[in-house]
Amino acid sequence: MDSYRGLRVLHVAGEAVPMVKTGGLADVVGALPVALNGLGVDARVAIPGYRHALRVAEEMGMRWLPGNLTIEAGGMDHSLGVAEVMVSGVPVYLLACEELFARDGVYGPTPASDYEDNARRYAVFAKAALALPGFLTWVPHVVHAHDWQAGLVPALLQRGWGRSLPATRSLFTIHNIAYQGTFWHWDMKLTGLNWSLYNPLQLEHFGKLNFLKAGVVFADRVTTVSQRYAQEIQGEDFGYGLDGVITSHAYKLSGITNGIDHEIWDPSTDPHLPAHYSHRDLSGKRICKQHLQREVGLPEDPNIAVVGVVSRLVEQKGIDFILDAVDPYILAGRMQLVVLGAGEPHLEAQLRNLQGRHADRVCFWHGYNEGLAHRIEAGSDLFLMPSRFEPCGLNQMYSLRYGTLPLVRYTGGLADTVIDVASGEGNGFTFGPMDMGHFSAVLDRALGLYQYFPKEWQRAQRRAMQADHSWARVAMDYAECYREMTWVER
Ligand code: ADP
Repeated sequence: MDSYRGLRVLHVAGEAVPMVKTGGLADVVGALPVALNGLGVDARVAIPGYRHALRVAEEMGMRWLPGNLTIEAGGMDHSLGVAEVMVSGVPVYLLACEELFARDGVYGPTPASDYEDNARRYAVFAKAALALPGFLTWVPHVVHAHDWQAGLVPALLQRGWGRSLPATRSLFTIHNIAYQGTFWHWDMKLTGLNWSLYNPLQLEHFGKLNFLKAGVVFADRVTTVSQRYAQEIQGEDFGYGLDGVITSHAYKLSGITNGIDHEIWDPSTDPHLPAHYSHRDLSGKRICKQHLQREVGLPEDPNIAVVGVVSRLVEQKGIDFILDAVDPYILAGRMQLVVLGAGEPHLEAQLRNLQGRHADRVCFWHGYNEGLAHRIEAGSDLFLMPSRFEPCGLNQMYSLRYGTLPLVRYTGGLADTVIDVASGEGNGFTFGPMDMGHFSAVLDRALGLYQYFPKEWQRAQRRAMQADHSWARVAMDYAECYREMTWVER
């Protein structure tokens, strides 16, 4: 289908798979442009040329384009090389700068810390991304900027920075409003924007320069990664201090629920799995379960519910609820727990402690492991995501596709994608109020259904596996949004 042929879109983001990933943002920026290409859109991507990203790109046949970009920030010039690599037919440009991006970390030396010069790093990146079209002699109709790392892009574009893209419109997508990119006011001089914009209606937020706010205020359209999240961030509980800003720009805000990569996450072909299966024949899933139990050192029991968690270990994800709730169910022999993740030291310590107390029923695998993440999705019966907030969430959709029923808090994208089995047509379990009582009750209900109603369970599994959360479908919504913004003829 090529009904959007002729539309040119440049995605600007801090990360994209397979080059660099710290969270779901990278999955989106990796997959959406490919799906847009499938619709005929000429979609391209700009990301910073981090040391690790360049290494990955090199293995994929990256080439350096002739010439350099020279970007000024606060009186200092930075020279950026432009490397191009094709990812599933999409040109991805890595903007490389020795002093800013040739480091071991992405946003900081560790996942839980920031580099002190992030304002400079991402101001230079935003300017370089807007200089890229001139460098390539390829002018996009829309610049699609993602999250705070690209928040200055709509502001620079609207204020005519570089004076090279007068007709280009901007779409800004909020993947997580909790991360805003806030810096002290003197960093304004790095942005190249006029000091007059440093006021509470534009770039300033409670005495700080706020990159995410810049994106929201200056973009032509704003989207969030689920419909419910677009509503939630207009309120105090989810707005992380920006709810007032979001509300006053609600006229240009909408939600488009993320998709997942149906090729990478396909239980009938997934190369990470020991056996394959589909909604027609689930027998391979039993083999995946047995293999997972063996891999993580838990007793190979086909009847006990294996409960999986793959997550950044941060407050957002409600890991503390899991820690507080599971003991009685583990002691009663009703579940095994497999947790894969890394993050806040106190959560890691408590997970180690839980494992120490129930060595034969709990495995905590510390770190990042793509293959194991796939095998947990396939080998588990139930998957937990009791998130305090969840802009979209990908893991619950992976779980659905792998026939692993997700148990989620009814918020953000979790509410958009998981329907409680209590409705009779559901594909998982949901709970509302964020308290132990509600979480524990729904866990009890889920384990009960697993134990006593296997036919019901299988029906829910089949419904879960047949839902279409593909990027192909989601890309249509974005393409329509671009078209509305630009009125490019179809
Ligand atoms: P977030 O972006 O808030 O981290 P999402 O559910 O949207 O949450 O996306 C998380 C992504 O990161 C998923 O693709 C998930 O599989 C992956 N992931 C998170 N932690 C790990 C880990 N320790 N090992 C492998 N993959 C992980």
